[in-house]
Amino acid sequence: AHLARIDAVDEKVHAFLHVDREGALAQARAVDAKKAAGEKLGPLAGVPLALKDIFTTEDMPTTVGSKILEGWIPPYDATLTKKLKAADVVILGKTNMDEFAMGSSTENSAYGPTGNPWDLTRIPGGSGGGSSAALASYEAPLAIGTDTGGSIRQPAAVTGTVGVKPTYGGVSRYGMVAFSSSLDQGGPCARTVLDAALLHEVIGGHDPMDSTSIDAPVPPVVEAARNGSVEGMRVGVVKQFAGEGYQAGVVQRFNESVELLKSLGATVVELDCPSFDLALSAYYLIAPSECSSNLARFDAMRYGLRVGDDGTRSAEDVTALTREAGFGDEVKRRVILGTYALSSGYYDAYYGSAQKVRTLITQDFEKAFEQVDVIVSPTTPTTAFPIGERADDPMAMYLADLCTIPTNLAGNSAMSLPCGLAPEDGLPVGLQIIAPAMKDDRLYKVGAAVE
Ligand code: GLN
Repeated sequence: AHLARIDAVDEKVHAFLHVDREGALAQARAVDAKKAAGEKLGPLAGVPLALKDIFTTEDMPTTVGSKILEGWIPPYDATLTKKLKAADVVILGKTNMDEFAMGSSTENSAYGPTGNPWDLTRIPGGSGGGSSAALASYEAPLAIGTDTGGSIRQPAAVTGTVGVKPTYGGVSRYGMVAFSSSLDQGGPCARTVLDAALLHEVIGGHDPMDSTSIDAPVPPVVEAARNGSVEGMRVGVVKQFAGEGYQAGVVQRFNESVELLKSLGATVVELDCPSFDLALSAYYLIAPSECSSNLARFDAMRYGLRVGDDGTRSAEDVTALTREAGFGDEVKRRVILGTYALSSGYYDAYYGSAQKVRTLITQDFEKAFEQVDVIVSPTTPTTAFPIGERADDPMAMYLADLCTIPTNLAGNSAMSLPCGLAPEDGLPVGLQIIAPAMKDDRLYKVGAAVE
């Protein structure tokens, strides 16, 4: 049924870069056979899923939305891919994304944009727009995203779906193509809080192949999602997540959510986190710096595309020609920014300062979580904007992540879930819930209460 749905709508939505028809049917049949034989089934047996094209898959291409990896079939499965297969999930295919997960609209994909199923002329968010669009268009009931600065939560918000950025280190990054390693985090996307929890439990947990993976049990997310409640909880509202640039309908729905939380028995506390005003600036030094280093491996020798290798050119020239042809504008912008920020004369002024801001943000969160159990905010300042509107204005694009980025810099956990439609445009609004590191279960407890 999901393959039929993909056939019917994906030409318009363009959520998928690759549909693995044969593989999906084979997996589904294997589940049926196991069942018939009375064998033990995995926890998500037979449930179809859309996988962001940033996780390696040994039986499908992995492009990361880039021309530089066009046609590359990785030699191994990411830990997350392995865990999905072990859970008997049916992987439908790989979803569209901004190139190397850099963007907030999926317009930076080298393979063309994805439409928002609520209005195909609008963006589905990014970088994981394909995964969220697949959910919103009913092409898949579960999806996987990655969140470096908001790429799970912002697409969830603008498509009316649920997305969770687990605690940094909560889901293995082994086989997840690196953008900014100290921020990148894979996580679950779904249409309901409980569905996201069921997926979270399957993909989470320690992985010896990832040195930043946390060696502790997955927080009890499913139990929390089954027992939604905010009774007696302290919920923080941060002063800095408001003001200029926030759409009226987004603010209205957010304020209604805060009232709902109060009516369900939560106490609301106003919080001041002054360093959050600097989060976007710090992020756009740290993320490009790490990206300039991580993307150095795309040198035309190891993977994918190779341009100009005609026997007359040096290896350096072939590398330069390949990167020139294979990377899009946003990727080049970030590699240049990051290389500059890390250069010897500027390292302390830029990268060093950004790291200090990062520490201040972590401290602001620590102080906040002494006073509250969770923090809530709008996920994004606006609803889905028209495709093309911010394409030539990187600064306007970067603002989409104003409320999501502090969490990545501090490494704690956060969820976005729908909280109604904005009255002025009828488009979905996302409510963000933020919890301390390894308290991901709180997101589900609160999310399930207000869903
Ligand atoms: N939009 C942000 C960026 O462009 C975040 C992307 C992400 O989370 N992968 O970097």
